[in-house]
Amino acid sequence: MAKQAKNHAHRRMTHQRQVISDCLKTLNHPTVDEIQTCVIRTAPTINKATIYRTMNRMVEDGEVIRIVGDDGAFHYDATLDAHYHMLCEECGALSDVDMPVLPQIDQYFPPDSDFRLTGHDVIFRGICSKCRAKKAGRNRAETGQN
Ligand SMILES: [Zn+2]
Ligand SMILES: [Zn+2]
Repeated sequence: MAKQAKNHAHRRMTHQRQVISDCLKTLNHPTVDEIQTCVIRTAPTINKATIYRTMNRMVEDGEVIRIVGDDGAFHYDATLDAHYHMLCEECGALSDVDMPVLPQIDQYFPPDSDFRLTGHDVIFRGICSKCRAKKAGRNRAETGQN
């Protein structure tokens, strides 16, 4: 009986993970809120606490990377190959940058440091095209009124 219950729990966990990883594939570095919006379409019973727990587990298992945005919100990324990101300072959107990773940066790290280097992350900052378009529209509206 106990074994059956455990199997059932395991199956449910796997199903939750499956639904969440399907959403991760269609979303761009989503936060837990964005994952939830996607997940409840196919699995309305999955709550936010479960998504948090599942994401923690997936990070521990090395299936996703967690990136902290400007607002302190966690963004999740299923692309595990080393790559760089760009962050919009207006809307907080996080995206991949299509450019080579520069392993030589690590060579500039102080060799006499006590810190044992395992790698580096790069986040480029700026304003995304959507926010720039929004701003341009606002400016046009303002000058139009004058
Ligand atoms: Zn933006
Ligand atoms: Zn990424």
